[in-house]
Amino acid sequence: MFRRAFLIDFTAGSALEGAVKGGLVDKAIAVDCKCPFCGKVNSVVVPESGLEAYNNGEHVQVAFPELTADQREMVKTGICVECWNKMFKTAS
Ligand SMILES: [Zn+2]
Repeated sequence: MFRRAFLIDFTAGSALEGAVKGGLVDKAIAVDCKCPFCGKVNSVVVPESGLEAYNNGEHVQVAFPELTADQREMVKTGICVECWNKMFKTAS
């Protein structure tokens, strides 16, 4: 039902804009989010309309209400759950 997007390397800046402009989006799109810390790639499926809204400056919570907080964080920053937990939840 959805096509896979290209790899988004968040260490090189957001590529969401490129995903939209490149015509790679369908009704839903799998965004590959590369974690800037561990390099792990996680796919998050988002609706095309949400991706466009986000690209146009909409807040991530508003653009992707169907995603979990963890998924939104991955779309926004690329940071995976493991690294997020390491940094902010179980810091010792
Ligand atoms: Zn990570």
